[in-house]
Amino acid sequence: MIKEMKILKQHGIQFVPDLKEAVLTPLFRGRPVIKEDISKSEAEHIKKICPSDAIVTEGGFGIDLGKCVFCKECQFACPDKIKFTNDYKLSSNKRENLVVRKGYKEIKFDEQSIRPEIRKLFKNSLKLRQISAGGDNSCEFELNAAGNVNFDMGRYGIEFVASPRHADGIVITGPITENMAEALQICYDATPSPKIIVLVGTDAISGGMFKDSPALNRDFFNNHAVDLYIPGNPAHPLTFINAILALIGR
Ligand code: SF4
Repeated sequence: MIKEMKILKQHGIQFVPDLKEAVLTPLFRGRPVIKEDISKSEAEHIKKICPSDAIVTEGGFGIDLGKCVFCKECQFACPDKIKFTNDYKLSSNKRENLVVRKGYKEIKFDEQSIRPEIRKLFKNSLKLRQISAGGDNSCEFELNAAGNVNFDMGRYGIEFVASPRHADGIVITGPITENMAEALQICYDATPSPKIIVLVGTDAISGGMFKDSPALNRDFFNNHAVDLYIPGNPAHPLTFINAILALIGR
């Protein structure tokens, strides 16, 4: 007994006490900051070296976090002007809000466009069914961690469930391969309404590095509106949990 108590004391507190204010290591690649104007030639150079076509030049220089794989090549090319911070709050309910431009200090939610039933029904309890639609198990791994003793999203009533019939929404990871397109649709149909659709990771949001692959079938998005976009490659558990909390109004 004494031995076990000593071990517990040695381990200390393992859970993250405040999921909204936790600070990640400076090495974490989170929200980028564009500090100064990027010249046309610099923008062209960065566009060329960016592996996932995440650089936006229309309407001024920007980085599209829905496409970015957080490789940091753009920062290496212009270290005085682009810096990736350790801010893990990267999500939005609007796809266009994922484009970061000069002077941006946060990624914004559009409160007005959140469906009222989401906050009314899911604020205190949200059950989700995860669908890996051609994912590489990286985002899936992080989503699993979101429920472990460290992050413990269950403290907010947020959980993954084994069946879409028990879920309030689906969480999609992976770029959606042809082989998973029908399974995704079946899973969506089996989830009772009203339901939410959450995309986690660059692959799910835009197809990422695989966006031009003939092996993908992203027709699902022609018929269904997405409620929440959670960038990352993969997305961090704190990014996921804070995004869900923002959507349900906690
Ligand atoms: S960090 Fe993102 S925007 Fe920058 S080069 Fe890599 S993928 Fe492109």
